[in-house]
Amino acid sequence: MKHREHLIKAVKKEILGWVLGALLAFFVIEVLLFITESKIIAIPIGGILFALIYTSAAQKVKCLVCGYIYDEVPGWRIKYGTSRKRINYCPHCGESLDGEVN
Ligand SMILES: [Zn+2]
Repeated sequence: MKHREHLIKAVKKEILGWVLGALLAFFVIEVLLFITESKIIAIPIGGILFALIYTSAAQKVKCLVCGYIYDEVPGWRIKYGTSRKRINYCPHCGESLDGEVN
């Protein structure tokens, strides 16, 4: 599998974690508001829940060679973009994203 394909998978997992976390937190806030009618209780609990899901479900996108976390590289630049915008090498170690990795 190509290095780029691994990174695209990680980007998808990160987005999925974000969406699931947001949906579940929203649902819990709604339920708590219905039960307690208190925003002071419901919103912080929803926020904590979102943070927990996001940090556990979302996998950080990182270089398989050096472990550099692609925080400053938007996910779309790994997959899309013109050849000028798309990144082809790890910004940290210079490993080619089109090389094969296991
Ligand atoms: Zn690297």
